[in-house]
Amino acid sequence: MKTHSTKQLLAAALAGERREGRSVGFVPTMGALHEGHLSLLRRASADNDVVVASVFVNPLQFAPTDDFARYPRDLDADAALAAEAGVDHLFAPDVAEMYPRGSIATRVDVGPTGDVGEGVWRPGFFAGVATVCCKLFHIVGPDRAYFGQKDAQQLAVIRQLVADLDLPVEIVGCPTVREHDGLALSSRNAYLDPETRRAAPALAAALMAARDAAAGGEGSAAELRWIVEACLEAEPGIHLQYVDLFDPATFSARERLDGRGVLAAAAYVGGTRLIDNVEVVSPAQQPELAAEPAAGAGAGMNAGAGMKRGAA
Ligand code: AMP
Repeated sequence: MKTHSTKQLLAAALAGERREGRSVGFVPTMGALHEGHLSLLRRASADNDVVVASVFVNPLQFAPTDDFARYPRDLDADAALAAEAGVDHLFAPDVAEMYPRGSIATRVDVGPTGDVGEGVWRPGFFAGVATVCCKLFHIVGPDRAYFGQKDAQQLAVIRQLVADLDLPVEIVGCPTVREHDGLALSSRNAYLDPETRRAAPALAAALMAARDAAAGGEGSAAELRWIVEACLEAEPGIHLQYVDLFDPATFSARERLDGRGVLAAAAYVGGTRLIDNVEVVSPAQQPELAAEPAAGAGAGMNAGAGMKRGAA
């Protein structure tokens, strides 16, 4: 594996790969790689001749009060893990390489998809994500790019970006990788201390309780929200910021589940903000599900099946 810190060096290396007619898979990341990232890298490696990964903590998607300065960074460890997962070219530019004039005036406007869910709490976040992904797609020129369902709204934004701007890349969504207790892997889990780590899996458990209720016929978004809230009331160490039901493609908010939806949430454990989501499927769609693995497995994950407001 080669590590490239400039666009020019990466472009020179990829020109050689292209001349040989090799397909290129691309996995953009902010580093501090964990098994979630590695699952994307392995999938890219299985699907393509050449794998490019990027490690870039993108200042454009952080608000001034966010954790940009303290976001975990360890390029040597990332390079070792990436090489092991089958990456051929690691692109690790610094901020000046990506934004040579200090910042950029141009932003990709993602419309209403970026204003709901995470966008309510992180204004401008999805414009920052879409803008850097647009730049990275142009720099790398991949045939396919891989994104995690862990960030379901980001995946919807990227699919919309590629469709709306006719970007010549296929977007591949990959399932969320979780700890044994259901906690979705995240670079920010490094912020958790033993107490907040103990409380953190409650978010996944609450979402999965609502997912089970949806599979059992609960179609009201208000009821599904209530199940998540009720589950989290039992865990004083976690504070729900929002939970909402969204259309998986457009991420418009839904008041009723009709087919498939995404139930997405954010919560604080101490000062650490966690996000997570599950796919919820109404019973009419269940036979289709039989062949698919559950989004998360583990003890205590179906505690909300049959739960009703007032019956808890
Ligand atoms: P990040 O480094 O957090 O920007 O994430 C880079 C990519 O890895 C994004 O497409 C994320 O959705 C994906 N990712 C992060 N955590 C997970 C996870 N637990 N499972 C699957 N994909 C993940």
